[in-house]
Amino acid sequence: MARKTVLQLSGVERHYGQGETTLSILKGADFDLKTGEIVALVAPSGTGKSTLLHLAGLLEHPDAGEVFLAGQACNGLPDAERTAMRRNQIGFVYQFHHLLPEFSAVENIMMPQLIAGLSKAEAKERASQLLDYMRIGHRAEHRPSELSGGEQQRVAIARAVANAPRVLLADEPTGNLDPKTASYVFDALEALVRQSGLAALIATHNHDLASRMDRRVTIEGGKVVEM
Ligand code: ADP
Ligand code: MG
Repeated sequence: MARKTVLQLSGVERHYGQGETTLSILKGADFDLKTGEIVALVAPSGTGKSTLLHLAGLLEHPDAGEVFLAGQACNGLPDAERTAMRRNQIGFVYQFHHLLPEFSAVENIMMPQLIAGLSKAEAKERASQLLDYMRIGHRAEHRPSELSGGEQQRVAIARAVANAPRVLLADEPTGNLDPKTASYVFDALEALVRQSGLAALIATHNHDLASRMDRRVTIEGGKVVEM
């Protein structure tokens, strides 16, 4: 079966105005992500990795160009539709877990599902499956502060995919972990992406992890280029 493009950036530009000067970060960036693919985004700090992920995740609008999700052009959509697409089609993982501190691991993973309208029982069942999948089922009732850094990130990944998005975007998800833990967290993430038919774009500075992904891209001169 031919793999389908789930995320496409076409001629995307992003410029930040700083007083008199303009900082051009993306200058006509093109990028395609296909179902089942895990792609590493490897580029020095300040080159626009987070900017690119925020645009791909519909958290920001490009100054020019278009972002397509599952073939749908997203830039001109009304805010409510963009929000719905972001909730249903995209999972986001950050360098710091951003879990809700007063809720347990399983509750954190249930939250996006409850917002999407699932029943508590349904949400709990899926959350428990995801925790098992991330090999932290035994930590379900613990709050984030009671979990290790690697466990926190595994909960954050489970939460990001709780609503079965098409695309997982991760911004240096293991950047705060030691190499061994980073490798373990990546194993779990990879298994999840492979079995669920997701697609993932992962910004990382970790060249070992990048070498284990399907493809590597970088940002050069405001464009996305294959490495
Ligand atoms: P990376 O994630 O690769 O480190 P970023 O996408 O965060 O890079 O940032 C790229 C550049 O754009 C940096 O120089 C940063 O300072 C600048 N930048 C990012 N966001 C803004 C903003 N909201 N306003 C002005 N400059 C920004
Ligand atoms: Mg960044």
